[in-house]
Amino acid sequence: MPTIFTKIINREIPADIVYEDDKALAFRDINSQAPTHVLVIPKKEIASLSELEDGDAELMGHLFVVVRKVAEDLELDNGYRTVINCGSDGGQTVDHIHIHLLGGRSLSWPPG
Ligand code: AMP
Repeated sequence: MPTIFTKIINREIPADIVYEDDKALAFRDINSQAPTHVLVIPKKEIASLSELEDGDAELMGHLFVVVRKVAEDLELDNGYRTVINCGSDGGQTVDHIHIHLLGGRSLSWPPG
């Protein structure tokens, strides 16, 4: 099912896009939880981790390479955290799989 992220991919609503290629898009989270908070998403509509198929393995690997590129571009030289929320207990609110990339400050652990 299309979500607000599909509208961002299709440029139907604005976003602060920091990276794009034929398979992936990265844009700043509208409700930033750190000095740098970017969402890396596939252009393919995959609802969540729990919907991943064997054929998505290469795409998911690609997304993590995009994370590394964006982290370099945004100079997260002291490190960063990636998070993928899954389902209601995981705190997922948008049903289009996305990797949160958080950095720019020291992050506490464990998350709530
Ligand atoms: P999650 O709760 O893991 O599903 O993450 C969804 C994220 O999408 C939240 O951090 C929201 O702040 C973010 N978000 C929702 N709508 C937008 C939007 N239009 N542009 C950028 N980020 C958004």
